This record gives sequence, C-alpha cells and structure tokens, in this order.
Amino acid sequence: MSSTKYIALIDCDNFFCSCERKLNPELNNKPLCVVSSERGCVIARSKEAKQMGIKMGDPLFKAVEEHPSCIYMVANHYNYLNISKQIMSILKSLSPNVEIYSIDEAFVDVTGLVKVYKKNYYTMAKYIQDRIKKEVNMPVSIGISRSKTLSKLASDRAKTTQDRIILLGKSKIKSYLKDVDISEIWGFGGRLTIRLQQFGIRKNVNVIPVSYI
Ligand SMILES: [Mg+2]
Repeated sequence: MSSTKYIALIDCDNFFCSCERKLNPELNNKPLCVVSSERGCVIARSKEAKQMGIKMGDPLFKAVEEHPSCIYMVANHYNYLNISKQIMSILKSLSPNVEIYSIDEAFVDVTGLVKVYKKNYYTMAKYIQDRIKKEVNMPVSIGISRSKTLSKLASDRAKTTQDRIILLGKSKIKSYLKDVDISEIWGFGGRLTIRLQQFGIRKNVNVIPVSYI
C-alpha cells in the first residue's frame, strides 16, 4: 500500500427511498418503505420508517398491519438505475479512478484529486457530497481512509454523524479501530467473525496489520 493513498467510499443514504423522494418531493420527511415487486418484502426504509421499527425483509402485509401510517411503494429498479448512472457520471467526471461497487456505492481514489482541486481530503469529500446533492438531489455519506475496507467502515459510521463525512487519516486509524467490533469490518462477517471470536478477538482489530484491511 502506498504511504499516500486515500480512497473515498461514496454511499447513497437509503438509496431507493431517496430516489422515490427525488421523483416525488411530497414524500420528504414522511415514513416511507420500498417493497420488492416479486415477494412483497421491505427492501428499503427511510429514516422515519426505521424509527417506527420496520425491519428490512419484513413482509408487506405485516408492515402494513403494524405500521399503517407508513407509505409503501413498489420498487422501480429502472428509475433507480437511471439515478445511479447520473451519480456515477459525476464521480467519473471528477476522477479517472472510480470503482462502482453497487448501484448506490462507489470507491474513488482521491489521492491526486486534492492537488487538482486544491482541497484537503475533508473539503474534497464535502465538495463531492454537495455536487451530488445539488445536481441529482441525492444525500450521500462519505468515508475516506487509506484502504477500501477502512473507507467502507468510515462511510458506514458517517451515516450517524451530522455532516455524514468521516475522514480516517493515518494518525487516527489505530485509536479508531480500538472500539470497532470485528463484525463491523467489511469482509469479516459470518464464519470468520466466529473464528476470530474463538481466539478471543472481538474488538481492537489492530491485532491485524492494517495492510490486510
Ligand atoms: Mg447505500
């Protein structure tokens, strides 16, 4: 790993719900769930729907019965894909190094961008976030750090912060990882987590060299 490399993970917030709100602003600030057309299960929830206690995967009939005041919409993946393409094209206009990870997430190598745009890593993230909001009206969370795994951790945690950006710089990584549960680390789910727990490793992933994550 280069000593100067920094990767940003740009992750849309509640993507399917945010797409529906973009297409119909009357849905803003209301509890909203998107359900799959095939099986009628909840596949996306707005912040308000999460606060009501609706869970991912809940069957529609159960959610409607328990939370009738929530709005339920059938997924329109064609619309979501179009909006995703708009976001990815903004990212590609900023950097030649964009790796699309899913319909609503992309890694961007921002190492050189800070010089080109004359910004620091935090203000670069803010600039990306503001452009996506202004041009596509999509809220995004951004994590920036020295590897894809660390930037993913940072973006997951950024969702609970006021500005929805976390910059995890070189000097902060060790202390930051101290309180991170290994199940939070991308790629450490399921069996590997259980195996590590058998060795007494639950937190403080500093026991694993950063170059591995
Ligand atoms: Mg997302």
